[in-house]
Amino acid sequence: MTKAYVGVPCDIEALRKVNAFSKEIGQDWADDILRIGLFCRENWAYSCFRALIEDDYGTKMEDVLKFDIKKGNIIAHLKDGETLTFPLEKSKPYVRMGCQVCLDFAAELADISIGAVGTPAKWSTVIARSTIGNDIVERAAREGYIELKPIDEVKPGVKLVTRLTDNKRTENLKEVSEREQAGFKVLHIKTLNDDLDKVREASKGKDFKDLEFDIIDTGLCISCGTCEAVCPEGCIKVIDQKPELRGECKKECYTCYLCCPRTSLPMVYLENHVLGDGEETKRESGVGTYIKIYAARAKDRNILEKGQDGGVVTAILLYALKNGVVDSVISVKKGEDAWKPVPFVSKTDSDLLGTSGTIYSHSPSIPTLKNDSVAQ
Ligand SMILES: Cc1cc2nc3c(=O)[nH]c(=O)nc-3n(C[C@H](O)[C@H](O)[C@H](O)COP(=O)(O)OP(=O)(O)OC[C@H]3O[C@@H](n4cnc5c(N)ncnc54)[C@H](O)[C@@H]3O)c2cc1C
Repeated sequence: MTKAYVGVPCDIEALRKVNAFSKEIGQDWADDILRIGLFCRENWAYSCFRALIEDDYGTKMEDVLKFDIKKGNIIAHLKDGETLTFPLEKSKPYVRMGCQVCLDFAAELADISIGAVGTPAKWSTVIARSTIGNDIVERAAREGYIELKPIDEVKPGVKLVTRLTDNKRTENLKEVSEREQAGFKVLHIKTLNDDLDKVREASKGKDFKDLEFDIIDTGLCISCGTCEAVCPEGCIKVIDQKPELRGECKKECYTCYLCCPRTSLPMVYLENHVLGDGEETKRESGVGTYIKIYAARAKDRNILEKGQDGGVVTAILLYALKNGVVDSVISVKKGEDAWKPVPFVSKTDSDLLGTSGTIYSHSPSIPTLKNDSVAQ
């Protein structure tokens, strides 16, 4: 294990797919990674989120200290102590089109999934899915980085995770059906039960032009940056959330199409093969595959205070970095433009502490993970 990566569910799906085809594409940078997935109902492109806050609600992004989403509202805590609160519903027109057909709320392919729902304020819900994920959570607790409780001991508990997963699926399947009735294909939804052979066969002969036609121009792209990261010619670049071709595809190359998590998503295969089927493994609709589910919070007061919820992502990563479990962490932090996320590689404690908190918009960080891995 050399790197940790933090991302939203679609980022984690992308990494698992690259990993599944690593031999075939001759790239192993996605193989040996601790994948931490954040719960996610939806996401916004930065320019849209900014327009929502500044144009619709007259609040400057640089005046916001922290954003929160609680009980159906977006809450901006301002630096002057005031708060701006408005219904999440008002943000719906700004939500990325790719998010509107995503069925994954709880990052079901991560080693460890972490989110706010299910636990009281300043705690996080932690779903340890893989053996390595559960091992790291338990070691971080034993070494005093986090405090753990079984999820059953807190309210509202895991039933809220299940409810939000079900809500996301129901709403987004309605959107899928509307798009299909309008003549658009939503490819990944059709392939959830496919095996890798079927995915490979469906991808052969398809290059960036097909990716553009099937995914990017139809509003399915989630700007994860996987196409940029896997392109063997280095000629794909995500500019302003949109992948662009900056050169020529190699003859018969279908790497970007094969690895994109929206051309196909063999979810059942990935769940069974990457998260395993050990004695301790359980499967539940609405939660996914897991070993244990906890309520957790950081023990360090500074991490807890700076953290979005329980500061658990930062505390677990700090444990992993300080104990040589990983040598770097790829996540995002605020850039020069207030609240614009930029991919960031943390190698030290202070790097990592500078990344805590949630930024509610997306930045493609998978190319940064690849560059950090191949630079070693
Ligand atoms: C777009 C988005 C939507 C979310 N929606 C929900 C939701 O509906 N329900 C829910 O319960 N939880 C949601 N979360 C997760 C929640 O906001 C917290 O991130 C999570 O509870 C972890 O809190 P923490 O205090 O343990 O993490 P912290 O210790 O504060 O660490 C947060 C980590 O997340 C990383 N991060 C921050 N923003 C992003 C980003 N945009 N992309 C990738 N990594 C990022 C940081 O770099 C840091 O490593 C969402 C997160 C995001 C990014």
